[in-house]
Amino acid sequence: MKLEDSDILVSGGGIAGLIAAAAFGSAGHSVTCVDPAPPVTEEAAQGSDLRSTAFLHPSIAVLSAAGVWERLAPHATALQVMRIIDAGGKLSQARLTRDFDAAEISDQPFGWNLPNWLLKREISARLAQLQNVRFLPGTGTAGLLARDSEALATLTDGTRIRARLVIGADGRNSPVRQALGIGTRTLRYGQKALAFAVTHERLHENVSTEIHRSGGPFTLVPLPDRDGKPSSAVVWMERGTETARLSALPREAFETELNIRSAGVLGHLTQVTRLTEWPIISQIADRFTGPRTALIAEAAHVVPPIGAQGLNMSLADLNALIDLSAGDPGSAASLATYERRRRPEAMARLLGIDALNRASMISARPLRDLRAAALGGLYAIAPVRRVMMRAGLGVS
Ligand SMILES: Cc1cc2nc3c(=O)[nH]c(=O)nc-3n(C[C@H](O)[C@H](O)[C@H](O)COP(=O)(O)OP(=O)(O)OC[C@H]3O[C@@H](n4cnc5c(N)ncnc54)[C@H](O)[C@@H]3O)c2cc1C
Repeated sequence: MKLEDSDILVSGGGIAGLIAAAAFGSAGHSVTCVDPAPPVTEEAAQGSDLRSTAFLHPSIAVLSAAGVWERLAPHATALQVMRIIDAGGKLSQARLTRDFDAAEISDQPFGWNLPNWLLKREISARLAQLQNVRFLPGTGTAGLLARDSEALATLTDGTRIRARLVIGADGRNSPVRQALGIGTRTLRYGQKALAFAVTHERLHENVSTEIHRSGGPFTLVPLPDRDGKPSSAVVWMERGTETARLSALPREAFETELNIRSAGVLGHLTQVTRLTEWPIISQIADRFTGPRTALIAEAAHVVPPIGAQGLNMSLADLNALIDLSAGDPGSAASLATYERRRRPEAMARLLGIDALNRASMISARPLRDLRAAALGGLYAIAPVRRVMMRAGLGVS
């Protein structure tokens, strides 16, 4: 059996794992990144990820240091305003609208939106430029023996990798987390999200819109024009029975429901990609570290897609790890600091997003009225609004 050395082994080549490999590679470490499933890098290909990711401000520095932002910037759509609408009144009626305009606190937009399939294409291309990074799609992590001195991983092709730091970026059912015997706390909502792209009649004007009614938020996030028409990514959260009903509808009937749910905010919406379905949970690992091992992204924490937090939290994990890896990456002291810095922060965000999601799911009329009143009151107070915007931007 082959035994190979690598400073860093990244288990998982989802977006978080690919960025981790590019970041550690750009910082000069030798990196091996493995994933049993090769990335799908074309929108129309089977299994492509039709979600988009809104990268908030602090994430851009991480992407730049990883040498990927310059590749992504030409494809990114700026997000200037976050609009929250409560449509909990009569069907398809927006009864309360509040705007967070990034101009109130900064000369920069809130963030930039990019399709996930394109992220995979561009980050994989960056990995191919880095001679100290080996990306092995089609090969997974099969076993892990982690000690304070080193971690020894066995890959599915039988190769063994000796690493100073293993990064578990292998998703919500993380095999690395399981190999370490780390449990999780999971909150289930019985919800799913439908993710797809639409074109629309009105310009989005770089406004990201979150519409609350019941069942969960319906979010429109700006994309570049498509076939000469304005376009947005949709994330539509509902209870699982309702997403099953919606996704089984013929296209025309689905589009009718879609236009009722969007409350007409961008004019008529036309579905332009297939629907993809994502189960929604909140989950946090009991620990984010083991000997010579750190969990990042969904291996460590999963949150519902509200406020574009998930991958941005993952890049904050990565930023902390890179910061702590100047000397011996994976030393017990640096991992203890990582645990202290990241787990409480992730837990606080998870609890906040959990509360927002539960408020958005409410269908009982009096509680919906309460939600609208709370939203209206909160967002009307300028200092509160600015504090919330800064929290989103990561500006202190
Ligand atoms: C509908 C929706 C919309 C979202 N929108 C946003 C947004 O706008 N902004 C934001 O910040 N976040 C967003 N998120 C969250 C974000 O998409 C996730 O945080 C992110 O995709 C998770 O990435 P990951 O790399 O941790 O996990 P995954 O994408 O699940 O990647 C895990 C990888 O590990 C691999 N793997 C499995 N087993 C093994 C093994 N044995 N060895 C090696 N690899 C293995 C898998 O093949 C997979 O490729 C959204 C989420 C949803 C559901």
